[in-house]
Amino acid sequence: MLLTAKIIWCVGVIAWFVIRYPHARRSRRTAKQRVAYRKLELVLLSISTLGLGIVPAIYVVSGQPRFASYPLQTWQVFAGALIFLAALYLFRRTHSALGRNWSVTLEVRENHALITDGIYKYVRHPMYSAFWLWAIAQAFLLPNWIAGFSGIVGFGTLYLLRVRHEEQMMLETFGSVYAEYARRTGRIFPKLKRAS
Ligand code: SAH
Repeated sequence: MLLTAKIIWCVGVIAWFVIRYPHARRSRRTAKQRVAYRKLELVLLSISTLGLGIVPAIYVVSGQPRFASYPLQTWQVFAGALIFLAALYLFRRTHSALGRNWSVTLEVRENHALITDGIYKYVRHPMYSAFWLWAIAQAFLLPNWIAGFSGIVGFGTLYLLRVRHEEQMMLETFGSVYAEYARRTGRIFPKLKRAS
């Protein structure tokens, strides 16, 4: 069962990169108008990569850090697989909705369009919702207190330190249109009550 759980984690991460690959290629060719918080962004991206990628990969390959391991329960593997699937589905939808406006760190494109439809109609950071789901799936799939939870800590750090900067940048770019959009939507969960 442990091997199955590890394989599911690997397949999830590979599928994530397959979905991202064409967007990452196009992103390199798309002209930028503004790059924001560059140094902090690179640090945050490294912390997130460590937590969602490097620490769990070391565990998957070597079983380290062994002292933090605990016995795996079958239900965890099912829960983790389902959550990873949901994460991949959401991730794909966000990438196709954002199109050329996407960037891995905070940037504004030439002719940047504010996307407020599709999944963005309900949530303004659905790609971050998808990353949270990946981090949660990892915690279920890898029965190790460090490798399992490093995704939540690593991505959580990026999320908490980035999201305000991102909204500030969007507000500076799109002004009252973004302010109004932010009023209607939730950050990572849909708003339960519609703003009147
Ligand atoms: N926070 C969003 C997007 C993540 S990608 C999400 O979680 O879905 C980060 C880049 O997307 C930022 O550099 C910003 O320029 C761009 N972006 C964020 N929200 C956007 C929106 N609603 N429409 C267009 N671009 C957006």
